[in-house]
Order: sequence, then C-alpha cells, then structure tokens
Amino acid sequence: MAYALPGLPKAELHLHLEGAIRPLTVLDLAREHGVDLPFRDLEEIERALDFKTFLQFLAAFQQVNRCLTRPADFERIARELVEDLVAQDVCYAEIRYAPMHPMRRGMTFDDVTAAVIAGLLQGQREHPNIALALICGLTRQWDCTAAAGSAMGWAGRGLDAIDIGGDEAGFPAEQFAGLYRDALAAGLQVTAHAGEAAGPESVWAAIRLLGVKRIGHGVRSVEDPKLLTVLRAEDVTLEVCPTSNVRTGVVASYEEHPLRRLWDAGVRVTISSDDPAMFRTSISQEYEVARQAFGFDEAELLHATRNAIEAGFCSEETKRALLHDLALPARGGRVMLGREAAP
Ligand SMILES: [Zn+2]
Repeated sequence: MAYALPGLPKAELHLHLEGAIRPLTVLDLAREHGVDLPFRDLEEIERALDFKTFLQFLAAFQQVNRCLTRPADFERIARELVEDLVAQDVCYAEIRYAPMHPMRRGMTFDDVTAAVIAGLLQGQREHPNIALALICGLTRQWDCTAAAGSAMGWAGRGLDAIDIGGDEAGFPAEQFAGLYRDALAAGLQVTAHAGEAAGPESVWAAIRLLGVKRIGHGVRSVEDPKLLTVLRAEDVTLEVCPTSNVRTGVVASYEEHPLRRLWDAGVRVTISSDDPAMFRTSISQEYEVARQAFGFDEAELLHATRNAIEAGFCSEETKRALLHDLALPARGGRVMLGREAAP
C-alpha cells in the first residue's frame, strides 16, 4: 500500500490496537478460530464499517474484537501494527489496547498484556527506528476495578499509562477519580477520552477530577473559550483524530472540524488515526487530511509530530533522542509536499 507524505516523520498518540487490525488478519483469525463474524470477505467488512454513529461504531468494534480468541492473536496484531507504522515513517507511536474485551471472553489481563508487549518488542526488534509506548484502555461502561488493579502491576514493566474509553456520555469521569489517583500513585501515566461523545464539561471533568494532562479527542473543547484558556495555560495536549470524528458523527464534515481553530487558539494539538482500519484511514492519511482540509504546511505538520513527542508517555531520554532526530534533514532527502507529492 502506498502511503501519503513519504519521508515526513510522523508521531501519533491515539491509536487503538484492536481498531488497527489489517482486514485480512481479521478474516484470517476468524477462519482459523472458527469465529462466526457477520462478514466473510473484504467487501462485507467494508459494508460492516459503514456505521453512522458513535454507538454503531462501538458495536462494530466489538464484532472485530471477537476474532481475537487467544493471547497469541494480540502478539500478531501488535507486531503487524508496528510494521504498518514503520512503513509510514512513524518515529513514535503510543498504542492502546482494550484488555477488558478479551477478559470477558475468558483471557487474563496478564496473558493479553504480555502478548501485546511481546508483539510490540518483536516489531521493534525488526524495525529499531520506531519508539513506542503502551497504554491500557479501560472501558467506561464495565466495572474497571480488576483490570485497573492488574494494570498497576505492569507499571515499569512495559505498560506506560491508562486511558478510559467507551460510552463517555453515559459514564462520566467522576466515577473514575479514585482509580486514576491510584494509577498515578502506582507510577502509570494517564490520559482519557473526553470531549468526543460529550461536551466541554467532560473535558473539564477529565482535567479537574482525573488529573490528566492529555485528552483523547477533546475537540468539543472548542465550544468553551474559558476551557481553551485553561488547556493552553496548563499545557494540556489534545489527541485529535479528524477522520474518526467525521466517521462517528461527532462533527458533520472536515470543514466543520475544529482542528485548525484549536491549533490557532494555541492549544497543544497532535494528530492521530484512532482506529485506522475501522475508519479506513491511516496516520499518513490523517497528516494528508491536515494538509489538504486544514491547510497545514510542512512546518506545521512537523510541529504536530514534535507536539506528540513532547507530550509522549515515553522516557525523557527517548524524547530527547526523537527530537534530536526530528531536527535533522529527513531521511531520503527533502520531504515532498504540495503538488510534488501527487502520484
Ligand atoms: Zn479512541
């Protein structure tokens, strides 16, 4: 597959492992494990991905998850994801996985986590030019106590942070305040989906009650000028995923998407693909969207990469090395932008 903006170093902070499974791998795993999915070929997958709302998306996400029946499947998809990122000149990526889905199907947190880490390490061994961090995504609408407790045991052993996702509107941040306090005390870093399916009040709750310095999406912050001032003053980073927001109906179109307004308001914005396989996008495609739909030039795209590295959950040493490399001329010569990049 040819990717957009070859040579431009990219970094993404908001990438769901289970939303990034290659469609062929979904079919392959379903066949191998005899899982009866509602789609049998690539065409049927395309149709299943034609959702129109956030809740329909969550339902499709759960269907795809059913093909993951044993820990080794997580190792495979993690390794394949690293390959796909490296092919797009991604220098830094944070991958989040959702262990509560496989736990409901009988797998253990520890087995799934160990498999994801093994897959990422294998990918990294084959492609040492990419730095990675791992985030455990908790599901708001389920009891997160056991998973969160297990996650804390992996702090410093390959797991860097926790996140909450899922039904944001139905399960607000206040329910997770204690859990986030414990996670921070255990040495994990924190982010939270907010300001996606719910409004600015959800972002306020995430920063005030959960103590996050990063927000998954956060695009609806644009509705509250006071919140924008606080995000800027407290250097909160937004993990913005433009195509995701259009596909789940958070905004009606790229034209109405606040990426450019948030950027111009001085908020630290990063660009991510969220669930690239499910939204039929990729991180290079999202950078291309930023360029074409939002008028980002090369310097701004590189700035978005720098923002992501600076807000990353990796070590300070890794950040320094990545930022140093970013200041060097792009590998393989000049970055191609504008008309020159057209096929
Ligand atoms: Zn997400």
